[in-house]
Amino acid sequence: MPIITADCLNVTYPNRVEALHSFSLEMERGEFVAIVGPSGCGKSTLLRVLAGLLKPTSGTVILDGEPVTQPSRHVSLLFQEPSLLPWRTVEQNLRLPLEVGNPHAKLDLSGSESRVSDLIRLVGLEGFEHAHPRELSGGMARRAALARALITQPPVLLLDEPFGALDAMTRESLIASLESIWRVATTTGLMVTHSIRESIFLADRVVICTPRPGQVAGIVKINLPRPRNWEMEGLPEFIASKNEIRALLSL
Ligand code: ADP
Repeated sequence: MPIITADCLNVTYPNRVEALHSFSLEMERGEFVAIVGPSGCGKSTLLRVLAGLLKPTSGTVILDGEPVTQPSRHVSLLFQEPSLLPWRTVEQNLRLPLEVGNPHAKLDLSGSESRVSDLIRLVGLEGFEHAHPRELSGGMARRAALARALITQPPVLLLDEPFGALDAMTRESLIASLESIWRVATTTGLMVTHSIRESIFLADRVVICTPRPGQVAGIVKINLPRPRNWEMEGLPEFIASKNEIRALLSL
């Protein structure tokens, strides 16, 4: 059974902008899906609907057999800005979602202390547990935000251009880290990105959206082996996927 089924989503905002039109997508448990599409085609709108932050005009989202009608601890959303609390250390920022809890479902806090240290190691922030956000580089702050998003072990992680504002080298290193974190985290992931090469590097499938209103223009399966590395960019499979995605985007 798919972990997420988005069926025939339509979103028209009160200003009559139609952001999504008949958008359907299924995701398998543990899968990583990337969404690429022109700016303004409704990608962020889709993530907000999947996270239960925005009610679609019509259509349904089913998560683990239950309709999504409000935010829940089953879905974590990671934005472009790391938005760490400046007065808290890295470790304290990671603990925040555990402290806030959830009024609808109690979090299982057993093992959470070792999870904090495991995640800090996993994202490469060992030695910075007691640092404050002002002491972190942009890339390190994103690593901390990623660890915080994973601390509640959400079955689904949604990523909205999480490394968008960073320089190219930092992005490459974060994308490679995310891929390796992915292989040990038991989460299903959906990432919106403007970068075709990053989508191929990370994803099992790349969903290509049409210009607004967003619809699925096509889906490209990525058959590259894991673990992945940037040297794979020269492989014929990588280049073929890139060409296929570009054609679906009409580039
Ligand atoms: P993307 O993430 O692909 O860039 P968005 O989902 O942010 O696209 O936006 C899709 C369209 O919906 C855009 O034309 C945008 O201007 C419009 N839009 C987004 N949010 C709102 C809103 N809250 N109210 C009205 N229009 C919106």
